[in-house]
Amino acid sequence: MSLDVKKTVNLLDTPFPMRGDLARREPGWLKQWQAQQRYQKLRQIAAGRPKFILHDGPPYANGDIHIGHAVNKILKDIIVRSKTQSGFDAPYVPGWDCHGLPIEHQIEKLTKGDKKAIAAAPTIHARIVEYRKQHGLEPKDVHLPAAFTRELCREYAGLQIERQKQDFIRLGVLGDWDNPYLTMNFKTEADIVRTLGRIHQNDFLFKGEKPVHWCIECGSALAEAEVEYEDKDSPAIDVAFRVLDGQKLATAFGLAAPVDDASAVIWTTTPWTLPANQAVSAHAELTYQLFDTARGKLILVRELAAAALKRYGCEDARLLGETVGARLEHLQLAHPFLDRSVPMILGEHVTTDAGTGLVHTAPAHGVEDFQVGRLYSLPIDNPVGDDGRYKKSAPVFAGDTVWEANPKIVALLTERGALLASETLNHSYPHCWRHKTPIIFRSTAQWFIGMEKHGRDGRTLRDHANEAVEATEFFPAWGRARLESMIRNRPDWCVSRQRNWGVPMTFFVHKETGELHPRSGELLEAVARRIEERGIEAWFSLDAAELLGAEAADYRKLTDTLDVWFDSGSTHYAVLRQRPELAWPANLYLEGSDQHRGWFQSSLLTGCATEGRAPYDQLLTHGFVVDGEGRKMSKSKGNVVAPQQINDSLGADILRLWVASTDYSGELAISDKILKGTTDSYRRLRNTLRFLLANLSDFDPARDALPVAELVEIDRYALVLAGRLHDEITGQHYPRYAFHNAMQRIVGYCSDELGAFWLDILKDRLYTTPAGSAARRSAQTALWHVTRSLLGLLSPVLCFTADEAWHVLNGDSDDSPLFHLWHEVPAVDDAEALAARWDAVRPLRAAVNKEIEARREAGEIGASLQAEVDIVADAALYPALAALGDELKFVLIVSRVGLSQGETTAITVASSAYRKCERCWHYLPSVGEHAEHPTLCARCVDNVFGHGETRAHA
Ligand SMILES: [Zn+2]
Ligand SMILES: [Zn+2]
Repeated sequence: MSLDVKKTVNLLDTPFPMRGDLARREPGWLKQWQAQQRYQKLRQIAAGRPKFILHDGPPYANGDIHIGHAVNKILKDIIVRSKTQSGFDAPYVPGWDCHGLPIEHQIEKLTKGDKKAIAAAPTIHARIVEYRKQHGLEPKDVHLPAAFTRELCREYAGLQIERQKQDFIRLGVLGDWDNPYLTMNFKTEADIVRTLGRIHQNDFLFKGEKPVHWCIECGSALAEAEVEYEDKDSPAIDVAFRVLDGQKLATAFGLAAPVDDASAVIWTTTPWTLPANQAVSAHAELTYQLFDTARGKLILVRELAAAALKRYGCEDARLLGETVGARLEHLQLAHPFLDRSVPMILGEHVTTDAGTGLVHTAPAHGVEDFQVGRLYSLPIDNPVGDDGRYKKSAPVFAGDTVWEANPKIVALLTERGALLASETLNHSYPHCWRHKTPIIFRSTAQWFIGMEKHGRDGRTLRDHANEAVEATEFFPAWGRARLESMIRNRPDWCVSRQRNWGVPMTFFVHKETGELHPRSGELLEAVARRIEERGIEAWFSLDAAELLGAEAADYRKLTDTLDVWFDSGSTHYAVLRQRPELAWPANLYLEGSDQHRGWFQSSLLTGCATEGRAPYDQLLTHGFVVDGEGRKMSKSKGNVVAPQQINDSLGADILRLWVASTDYSGELAISDKILKGTTDSYRRLRNTLRFLLANLSDFDPARDALPVAELVEIDRYALVLAGRLHDEITGQHYPRYAFHNAMQRIVGYCSDELGAFWLDILKDRLYTTPAGSAARRSAQTALWHVTRSLLGLLSPVLCFTADEAWHVLNGDSDDSPLFHLWHEVPAVDDAEALAARWDAVRPLRAAVNKEIEARREAGEIGASLQAEVDIVADAALYPALAALGDELKFVLIVSRVGLSQGETTAITVASSAYRKCERCWHYLPSVGEHAEHPTLCARCVDNVFGHGETRAHA
């Protein structure tokens, strides 16, 4: 008998397994997607829809991807997928940044025989060895021709891209991987050159002598974004500059007699810049004091005088007079060790934060010095060469590095009696992000995009840029203030570099005047066309006479290359404008928060300088990944979590779920423990899907679905709840890119609305009513909509799992939720009234469960179906419960409910006195009444042998 009973219950199985086994199965699904040409298929499906363009910020083509790359690409993929399902045509063309120093450095390392570099790129090293052999070069010869170096760089970048590409694909990121954009594509190189040409045409490009961040190791100027600040020990010294005109000084301080033996005191942490000193700056409005001290008469700013005198051991100094800075202007001073007289000048950059209130000014070595120097027409003589050593022509220490010179200069100052104090200061100092070594400020001839240059419309680039920031929408909102302040404060953009592996600045410069050729625009286009054919080599190997004819003798080709940030900053033109499936401007740029000073800014500036606006409407930034304790990841700390490792152990869907569940506006924490939590969430979602799919396995919507109006009341309510979820996710969270809110809501929905409520109640009806009965088909109709909807909503994040479930649901392994718009949950006519009633019932259920739980703990009852419940409901609750009639017991999952109305709500739970039905497990008086089926209740007898029960409410 018991075997028969089991057969009469609708307990169905599903091919959707309990365990995802993602790490093993995902690669197979990826192969299927590739065979299916899913990206191309999606283009056909989405053809004609409005475009949504997320322009990919190109990762640098060097090294394997790390967890930060994974976060970045997964966020992009979630957006592209959710936009696609929202009804957009959202093509995704991934890109790579290919030129620049890091790759050139790798090639240098290979030429120098660096073991690590060789192990990472053996084929390239073999080419170097072969080249040397063919050209009769020494095995240790590191000076390879520039053209060959570029060839190697190109090949090296290509290899790196292939590695990174496979890892990105493994994450489930869908894009045009067969046809990505590379900044080293010939066509792209040509279009980068054209962007430069347009900026020149618009008058924003100029050549200048200017101090730039200079890395000695790189042998090149650095972009702002390549500079990072680290603590460094520097010598901090106080240096006396003797006043040359005692009478003039006396007049300035209102003293009668000329003042001899007086000095203006400066304070500096870069003694090596003193040979380039051309002035001492004071602030016009600050008060300066003249002291008579044991170490001579000293001029100091009032606010810092006491501290300074203490440093010099001159606390008993006598104040001789005071004056405002303005009166010190043009006072001549003697350079402390060079035969040079330098003026006192006035500058706004002078503060009373530290030092003496008098600022050593070397226009060749500082931006502010340079600016104030220009006002006073000071010379910019720069004694320091590209290699960080004083040039042969330098007045002192020729051949020394600036770091070697520091102590020597301190010694020289001591010898000259000009050193008043010396100590070591630990302070924040700019470093090369690549070499982690301190950089210097050094003036060189460079090309700039001028922030204060007036374009053809008479407005400055900074004006344009400010306006562009204003017009951009930021996620999170604080990004605006950040970019705004960066634009407000940024200096001109130095775009020239003196390297090999970069897009050349294809200008002809007049040998005498240094002016660009008057037909530069036209010539540049001619060069660009050649670059389209042969790449940047077309410029480097170009014979100027080919384009200039006889004029070639008067012109030289510029050998500078472009800052690599210019390359990526031009991709909106070189990619968005050029590829037919894309559009300009992009809807969205999305990168890590460091790109406010990198790509977001370089793109904004090239956009403004060419088109007068930003190349994007929205900017989204995400934080960096840290470990569980909030520490940065580093090999030395051993806390690095690699995406490849997660893919191979847990699966990409787990990584994707972690990304989506984490609030990316701050730092994203990851650890084994955190991933375990993610895996638990995944398992709960998977179990929900499994329940849904199992109970739909005999349901064919075309054949079995009931009209919504005919559904059992609680099923219609379930549709209302699913509709709420749908509206919230597709109306708020996905459009606002608030994926962690979406995930939290979906996980909550699965456990509360589904698991703990509707599905729990539904089990009785699904299992015990006849398979084809209206009662069961009603449940399945609603389940089917809920499942379609839920899989759609999950699909942008759990791209593998949602697909897997979709195939089970629809029996079509070529289909995907991605090919469909969000599933519209059918509207329910009496939704509001229904929701009001059922929203009141749900808390009661919780209260009843609590009572049952208490009885169970007391050992009075076993399963909740053993309970009989008597409810006294207050006036507010009573009608909602009464409306459910006898079916209230199904809602509460008990065997009997007694309901009455009273002052306040009260719940009494008692153990049923009746027998348990073997089939439905309810405790009912009818069990034993049927002669042939003494172990079944009347309801089960009807469900198995009769027409089956009718359900209206639950
Ligand atoms: Zn460097
Ligand atoms: Zn029964």
